[in-house]
Amino acid sequence: MDGFMDVDIIAGLDDNQRRAVSSGSRHILIVAGPGSGKTRVLASRFARLLKDGASPASLLAITFTNRAASEMKARITGLSPNRLKLDIGTFHSFCFKFLKKTMPGFILFGRAEQAEALRGLGVKAVDRTIDGISAFKNGMVPDAEISGILPGYEEALKKAGALDLDDLLLKTIEALDTGGYGLVKTHIMIDEFQDINPVQSRLVKLLGKNASVLAIGDPDQAIYSFRGGSLKSFMDFEKDYPGCEVIGLNRNYRSLSAVVSASQAVISNNQERIRNDISFTAEGGRIEILKCADEKAEGEFIVKEIERMMGGLSSLTAGDHHEGMRFSDFAVLYRTNRQADALKEAFSRAPIPIHIVEPPGPDFADFIRHLKSKEVPSGSGIPEFIRAEGDSLGLDKELIDLFLMAANGLGEGEDLSDLLDDMTLIQPTDNLDIKADKVNLMTLHMAKGLEFRVVFMAGAEDEFMPLRLKGGSDVEEERRLFYVGMTRAKEILYLIHAKERRVWGEDKERQPSPFVEEIPEGLAKKVTKEKKAVKKRPVQTGLFE
Ligand code: ATP
Ligand code: MG
Repeated sequence: MDGFMDVDIIAGLDDNQRRAVSSGSRHILIVAGPGSGKTRVLASRFARLLKDGASPASLLAITFTNRAASEMKARITGLSPNRLKLDIGTFHSFCFKFLKKTMPGFILFGRAEQAEALRGLGVKAVDRTIDGISAFKNGMVPDAEISGILPGYEEALKKAGALDLDDLLLKTIEALDTGGYGLVKTHIMIDEFQDINPVQSRLVKLLGKNASVLAIGDPDQAIYSFRGGSLKSFMDFEKDYPGCEVIGLNRNYRSLSAVVSASQAVISNNQERIRNDISFTAEGGRIEILKCADEKAEGEFIVKEIERMMGGLSSLTAGDHHEGMRFSDFAVLYRTNRQADALKEAFSRAPIPIHIVEPPGPDFADFIRHLKSKEVPSGSGIPEFIRAEGDSLGLDKELIDLFLMAANGLGEGEDLSDLLDDMTLIQPTDNLDIKADKVNLMTLHMAKGLEFRVVFMAGAEDEFMPLRLKGGSDVEEERRLFYVGMTRAKEILYLIHAKERRVWGEDKERQPSPFVEEIPEGLAKKVTKEKKAVKKRPVQTGLFE
């Protein structure tokens, strides 16, 4: 491929990473730790194949989020002077594009349309039912309630000529199974393979019949078993793809030694795991375990700490590398979305810009519906049209920006309806703009694959971590989730637990997370600040408000 010739794709990679990028084996499994360059290797291998002459259409990379896909595309196209159309996306977006070509004419039901259909069938607990149907379509056993509603639901889809998100995979599998579609993929590369579910695994196998498959993942970071994700596909890879080459990456380039050692100590408590000893590349870093009075004090501590670190060098201890801190260097991670409220309130009293990573609200679906009823006036581009419509409805800038971002990502010949389809596949992390200078707040699940200089884990308490649910909890999975959170930090990690917290409207005594206790003494500094937060009035935003 022209243009790639001048770029040394493997410069800066270590030996194992180079091997992963250059290997000519038909199938490859890369088992690797956090921050070991998995995502980087995948992008480099994609670029290497292009450089070696593969046509862009013959390559497919599957990422866990749309966000990771656009980042990877940008990284690869950045290496090439030509604008390339690359097939990189989530399972959903790949299947959607495939079906649009092979069985055009269907419409896509997002959550809002599913909810509407279910309400039409008299379902009250709509959200739970949507999740139940999705779990069923991903290979889990449905309960009686879901079984009862399924026939009516399928009928409603059929009447509307619609597929839901899970159908995208099922229909693609059906099509590939019967064959005859002339799919030209020669290389399939999948990131975050540890979280693949049986349906996705089946799809990969079909795609891999005539192609090389590269699976990359970290079994210690498998955190989606509640959605049917299972380590089984990972464990079975060598059996399913006989003769595959297995490559290990075990140097963590992301985190300084304190974070690497502490997270290793925690994850080693899992019994069901493939042992993978991770080494660090640089000494340093800091872990602080903070005990505070309650959730208000927790929020206040985080805000103050960010202000302190952003405030200049005077108050900083040597060796912490705080120079040139930006708000986007900080993330606050928590186990449940409900925890965001108290944190939001603490931030509302400080001049710190934040972004909360969460599913889009009702305005989002309404805007899609509104745009569906319109046509782009001749002479206007799609972005201008979206901006005008969004402004006329008085929508949030962030929401409009999300649509504009998708509009800018449209390929040649794609129109408004393609854009609206893309929006149906949206995920909470899509509007996470790491370059925007804001502190990011999100659940541990959303933080997968990301990295920040400073991470605050809020509510590092028993009952949150592990999350204790009525039906019991899977402690090893919860430990993996905790491990994912810890390993997002490059330099400094705060684990914060409150003595008392308001949960479900009740003040409860809390204990630190048992995972926090698994960090060896000497690797973390313990600090206690039990004074309650001072009651303050909210900042007055305007004279007449
Ligand atoms: P995760 O398990 O969290 O998904 P990962 O294995 O995908 O992590 P990457 O995100 O690819 O890791 O890389 C982690 C960080 O390490 C990135 O900032 C990346 O640029 C850096 N990195 C990776 N490989 C190298 C290398 N050989 N030299 C220097 N930095 C590297
Ligand atoms: Mg990654």
